[in-house]
Amino acid sequence: MELTNKTIIVTGASSGIGAAAARLFASEGANVVLAARRSEELRSVAEDITRSGGRAVWCSGDVLDGAYLAMLTELALHSFGGLNGAFNNVGIVGDMVAVPEMSIDNWNTVIATNLTSAFWAAKAQVPALKEQGGGSIIFTSSFVGFSNGGLPGMGAYAASKAGLNGLVQSLASEHAADGIRINALLPGGTITPAGGEGNPDALNFVSGLHPMKRMASASEIAQAAVFLLSDRSQFMTGSPMIVDGGMSVRLL
Ligand code: NAP
Repeated sequence: MELTNKTIIVTGASSGIGAAAARLFASEGANVVLAARRSEELRSVAEDITRSGGRAVWCSGDVLDGAYLAMLTELALHSFGGLNGAFNNVGIVGDMVAVPEMSIDNWNTVIATNLTSAFWAAKAQVPALKEQGGGSIIFTSSFVGFSNGGLPGMGAYAASKAGLNGLVQSLASEHAADGIRINALLPGGTITPAGGEGNPDALNFVSGLHPMKRMASASEIAQAAVFLLSDRSQFMTGSPMIVDGGMSVRLL
C-alpha cells in the first residue's frame, strides 16, 4: 500500500487515465476526491471504489471555473480532514486541424482546459498543502509538445502541454522549500476515449509511432502517478516524467 491514508484530488476522474488512477490510488489506500463534469460517470467510479472497500467522494464541475478547483480542496479537507496531493489530469485534444484553419474558440478552449486550469489548481492546492506541511502535485502533460512529439493538427494541444511543463518547473522551484513536490507526467499514446479507443485505425497509427509498437493502458500511466504521489519519489520535483514506450527517443 503506497498511499495509505493520503487524501488525493483526481481531476478527469470520469474517464480514461483519471478513472483508472482513482481506482488504483484507492486500492493503494488513498482517500480520493473525484472531479469532472459528468456526474453519472463520477458516481459510478466512486461506487466501484467504495464497493471494493475504498474511500471516495465526488463533485461534478468544470475546471474552467477557478471556484470549482478551490471547492475541491475544501471538499478534501472537509471529507477527510486533510490534503496530501493532487493528480491534475483533465485534458482535451480539441479540433485536429492545422493552425491556419483553427478557430480562436478552439485555441482558447484547449488552452483554458489544459493550461489555465493548472493555474487555478495550483492556486487552490499549494496553500492547502503548505498548511499541511507538504505534499505532491502532478499535472498530466503529454508526449505531444515534448521531444519527438511534433504532430500535425495539434498546435493548441502541443502549446498547452509545453506550457504546462514550463509552469511545473516554476511551481516546483517556488514551493520546494515548503515540502511541496510538483511534477509533470508525460504519457505516450494511451488507450482511452480521447486516445482513439474504439477506432482501430487511430490505435494502429499511434501504436506504430512508439518504439514499443503499442499504446499504454490507462492503468500503466496510473502506476507512474502512484510513484509520484508516494514517498518513493521524495527527491523528485520539477520533473517531466516520461512514460511513453520510448516515443521521445525514437529515431524515425
Ligand atoms: P479522457 O478519457 O477523454 O478523459 C479526460 C477527462 O477530463 C474526463 O474525465 C473529462 O470528464 C475531463 N474533462 C475534460 N474537460 C473538462 C472540464 N472542462 N472540466 C472538468 N473535467 C473535464 O482522456 P485521457 O486520455 O484519459 O486523458 C487524460 C489526460 O492525459 C489528459 O490531460 C490528456 O491530455 C493526457 N494524455 C492522454 C494521452 C492519450 O493518448 N490518451 C496521451 C498523453 C496525454 P468530463 O467529460 O466528465 O468532464
